Amino acid sequence: MKPGIHPEYYQAKVRCACGNEFEAGSTLKEIKVEICSKCHPFFTGKQKLVDSAGRVERFKRKYAKFEQERAQKSAAKKSDS
Ligand SMILES: [Zn+2]
Repeated sequence: MKPGIHPEYYQAKVRCACGNEFEAGSTLKEIKVEICSKCHPFFTGKQKLVDSAGRVERFKRKYAKFEQERAQKSAAKKSDS
């Protein structure tokens, strides 16, 4: 490696908001994360969404409406024939 142009490389302590800690190679000494492999729903299989803007809620409402309309349409089709 050429001296003087590469950043320092540390075994960084990664701290998650859930309390989990692990080490990873990084140019930072300490890293703080909000979600890690211990608490991410993809790995835990639980539904835990970080939804500060309420986007998921809005989508669920929209989707429920869509499902309702579809059910009504298919019901109407059945009664026609
Ligand atoms: Zn975590």
